[in-house]
Amino acid sequence: MSTNVDTFLGSVETTFDQAADLVGLNDELRHKIKICNSTYVVRFGVRLRGGLVTFTGYRSVHSEHREPVKGGIRYSLHADQDEVEALAALMTYKCALVEAPFGGSKGALVIDPTAWEPHELERITRRFTQELAKRHLISPAQNVPAPDMGTGEREMAWMADEYKRLNPNELNSWACVTGKPVSKGGIRGRVEATGRGVQYALRECFRHPKDLEFAGVTPGLKDKRIVVQGLGNVGYHAAQFLSQEDEAIVVGVIERDGAVVDESGIDIDGLHMHIHKNGGVKGYKGYTEDSASVLAMECDIMIPAALEGVITVDNANDIKAKIIIEAANGPITFTANQILLDRKCLIIPDLYANAGGVTVSYFEWVKNLSHIRFGRLGRRQAENQMINILSAVEELVGKKVPEGWRDKIIEGPTELDLVRSGLDDVMREGYASISAKWNNDSRIPDLRTAAMMIAIERISDSYSSLGI
Ligand code: NAD
Repeated sequence: MSTNVDTFLGSVETTFDQAADLVGLNDELRHKIKICNSTYVVRFGVRLRGGLVTFTGYRSVHSEHREPVKGGIRYSLHADQDEVEALAALMTYKCALVEAPFGGSKGALVIDPTAWEPHELERITRRFTQELAKRHLISPAQNVPAPDMGTGEREMAWMADEYKRLNPNELNSWACVTGKPVSKGGIRGRVEATGRGVQYALRECFRHPKDLEFAGVTPGLKDKRIVVQGLGNVGYHAAQFLSQEDEAIVVGVIERDGAVVDESGIDIDGLHMHIHKNGGVKGYKGYTEDSASVLAMECDIMIPAALEGVITVDNANDIKAKIIIEAANGPITFTANQILLDRKCLIIPDLYANAGGVTVSYFEWVKNLSHIRFGRLGRRQAENQMINILSAVEELVGKKVPEGWRDKIIEGPTELDLVRSGLDDVMREGYASISAKWNNDSRIPDLRTAAMMIAIERISDSYSSLGI
């Protein structure tokens, strides 16, 4: 039976309390940091299909210790106030952990996006944007939404465009949301960012032999067996990069309508195309209705990348994965976390593992404020410098560098190169800091508590510097 600590909000708050105890946070500051500052609930009507349809939307602001506040907007029938507040709290801790200069926020619209035509969704999204704009819940300086479950570049482009219409004199209006298409002020590498961040997080984890030893995992990502839940934006990119670039083997994919199993490795692109064409995994080679058995498959790494509360007290004992990386927010409940920890499963927690999204959103926001793409000024200068160095070396040794090498060596960094480099740096530093904290203090039970402690220390420093 689930208890209160096993609701999504309960899990986040209980983790916070445990970490706050270890940090030794005083009661007043603990209360201030933990509590959600505000949640706006809006009900608005849109004329559709000959009638008036009323929608419910949320935007929670968890903490304004840094502004703007930041966090995605999800389109889901299951969204409610508790879920949005839990997600907003996670955003506060996530931003603090990866040093993105934002407070935490999150939003949702209670809607099944597949039930509406694109032109209808556009009207609904624009109307929702107007409601948010009225209360400064979308604004480059105060509150910057981003994509989440059920939303993507298209919705962000509609929101940015609507905000621009409402604020024609605002010079920085593109910075009002992130995750936009490149043609509408977006940044290269944002669509893939969260999945790419999961890949970088795992690569860094595999550079920490002590952590692998804890989980009983042999070194090297090559040939590691992976099970992924949810082949949407985050899950697809993580699975694709890990199988294509690190030669890991994705043996199972779980989706809404069942799962796919292939011991020799699933063709992720093929399955992704099948899902887009058919609306699910049914009919694909290796299809099974029995998703629970795929979640319980022998594997080295599990990547829950769908939604919260999927690994609970009811199924945690069945899970055999040695490492679970929480690509989704809140996939493991508090009690399930304890069960997995007892059998030495290494859990790489959501507030670090999926921070790639907000990290590249941060880069996009900076790009929008500076009105110039990264690499624009320095790329050719870097190339010329390398050409000069190569020419000098060639002259000194009396040999020419082969042409294929030459092009690679002199190539200056593009925007995508710089985004990936920045993301890699954030994910490496983030893992190294939480692993060091966990390994150096026997009171800290896991990486999740260590990550939360670092976040709390940074937020409380920020309040202290204000004299609070
Ligand atoms: P998405 O809508 O693109 O993909 C979600 C996928 O999960 C879909 O393929 C959907 O069919 C599948 N799914 C839904 N319910 C399922 C179920 N019960 N069982 C199995 N599969 C199911 O969403 P996304 O943007 O990839 O987000 C996924 C998770 O990652 C969410 O928890 C989100 O909060 C988190 N996240 C996303 C981002 C981002 O940049 N998009 C950033 C940080 C965290």
